[in-house]
Amino acid sequence: MKKQKHRPALVNIWYLLRQAVRQDRTYPLALAAVLAVKLALPVIATLLPTAAVAALTRGGTLGTYLAAIGGLMVLYAGGTFLGVLLEEVLSVKNSVFRTIWGVTAQTKKALTMDYQLLESPEGLQRMETASHAVGGNHVGVEGMLRHLADWLLNLLGMVLYGGLAVALDWRILLVLAAMTAANYAIALWAWRFNMRTKGEADKDLRGQNYFFRLSRNPANGKDIRLYRMEQWIMGAVTACVMRRDSWRRRSFGRRALRSVSDSVFLVLRDLLAYAMLVGSFLAGDIDAAGFTLTIGVISTFTNWLNMFVAASDDWRYETLEVDDFRNFLDQEDIFNHGPGPDVSKVQSPPRVELRDVTFTYPGGEKPVIDHLNLTIRPGEKIALVGLNGAGKTTLVKLLSGLYRPTGGEILVDGVPAADFNAAEYLRLVGTLYQDVKLLPFTVGENVSGAEDYDRERVWACLEKAGLREAVEALPKGLDTSITQRLERDGVDLSGGQQQRLLFARALYKDAPILILDEPTAALDPLAEADLYQKYAQTTGDKTSLFISHRLSSTQFCDRVVYLENGRVAEEGTHRELLERGGKYAELFEIQSSYYKDKTDQEEPS
Ligand code: ADP
Repeated sequence: MKKQKHRPALVNIWYLLRQAVRQDRTYPLALAAVLAVKLALPVIATLLPTAAVAALTRGGTLGTYLAAIGGLMVLYAGGTFLGVLLEEVLSVKNSVFRTIWGVTAQTKKALTMDYQLLESPEGLQRMETASHAVGGNHVGVEGMLRHLADWLLNLLGMVLYGGLAVALDWRILLVLAAMTAANYAIALWAWRFNMRTKGEADKDLRGQNYFFRLSRNPANGKDIRLYRMEQWIMGAVTACVMRRDSWRRRSFGRRALRSVSDSVFLVLRDLLAYAMLVGSFLAGDIDAAGFTLTIGVISTFTNWLNMFVAASDDWRYETLEVDDFRNFLDQEDIFNHGPGPDVSKVQSPPRVELRDVTFTYPGGEKPVIDHLNLTIRPGEKIALVGLNGAGKTTLVKLLSGLYRPTGGEILVDGVPAADFNAAEYLRLVGTLYQDVKLLPFTVGENVSGAEDYDRERVWACLEKAGLREAVEALPKGLDTSITQRLERDGVDLSGGQQQRLLFARALYKDAPILILDEPTAALDPLAEADLYQKYAQTTGDKTSLFISHRLSSTQFCDRVVYLENGRVAEEGTHRELLERGGKYAELFEIQSSYYKDKTDQEEPS
């Protein structure tokens, strides 16, 4: 995996703050209000006992005593109430920001990032850590914003009390400096451990989430129950959870050491402060009120100092997660998302040429597509055949504009496919895949891929795909939702109907290049041959690629390309290849005798 970019915590918090303000103009106001109240409260808390002692020892009247103490107490109580209220307001703002901005930004990126990245192990890992960064109130994005008020408060408090602290005895300052240095050293040591080990621990996070999703997905539910895989899955989840838990404990254990060091230093500080102040009091240098004020200043200043180190330390962890999120958003595109050649100038149907195309999957050892050369003439129908693993689906991904070759190039009407704007290029290609993925929207939306669509055109496409009657029979026609997961009155279409609906979608798109990647694999051979004939008749004007492992269903194609180990092993018409007696002929012979045997067996005797 490429090295991840790390930014200083202040850079990340500034970035988050800008996003938060962009989303909610009143955010800085809420932050400032929390700061003002929370800064005033410790000042009142320091003044309160001082005022009491002063009133008692400096001989004030009951009236002045009550006025001073009572006033401060009312102020303190009101401030506390206001503080809680404002903190709640800020807390809600932080959560709303995380969910709205975090989820929107992540979803948008996931929907628009290059498919090749989305599917790569690196992309999947980044997606997982990014989700984690916006997955809770006290992690990553929200955690960092939540600590912003504390961090600023402590910083301001230190500045405010700093002047007073300078006036303290140098020995106390020395203890405080040693305390801060020890705190910092421990925090850094714990953080380094975290940095060293986070990558491995993130893999377990991905593992546990993967198995969790797998167990919730009804598509896997049948196999899991039938093959009793629950124990195996539970074992895998538990292993990930335990490893991550053990890592968290080691990580938190190191961070917790700071509290131990704090307690030691605090005892030392108090011993020194009291000894010193009692000495001054006995010598008559300060009175009781001065004594109380100084003790108050020392402990409040120490508090600011400690909390500042703690908040900075929390940031040091959260900023790593914010980095994860930003690195996910900033993933560089592989494809051209800027301007490119005008796709409307591409003639319909276009010529498609693969020139020395090579493709190796990330981490793969050998190329899956290996220096492949192939020209598809305008309007030509090619049957792409080959054994499993020959590279057919990979070639489809490359031609559809979802993957980019690692070597060589694809040309459409002589223009390199890579030069086109990626989204524009996708308009040139209509693809039907073997795995049916209908979205839980209405029939009309599924066919058109949009909310506003041309209803007449959708009906015409459904007609050509042989699905018009079935849709007309549905209670809400085009407006019927597919699958009942989101809508109670939705329908679940049969496998064959889903294939037809996808076909209607490809017809609606009316792209000049059509690719069928075994969309009929689940149908029986006769139904497949029939559907392929239908595709061929209705899409006669397109440059097409038909993939099937059943060689009989693609005989109508102008040319057959037999793929083996990512290379063109044989090509020619069906008849030519049979006459040549090569691998295609051999495979065709095996398949036809198999089907012949099967048909013989099935015939009633
Ligand atoms: P076919 O469609 O002809 O069966 P594929 O293009 O699916 O062939 O696969 C060709 C080779 O590429 C196989 O060895 C397969 O294991 C490998 N492969 C396919 N998809 C991926 C992927 N996402 N990551 C890594 N290897 C893959």
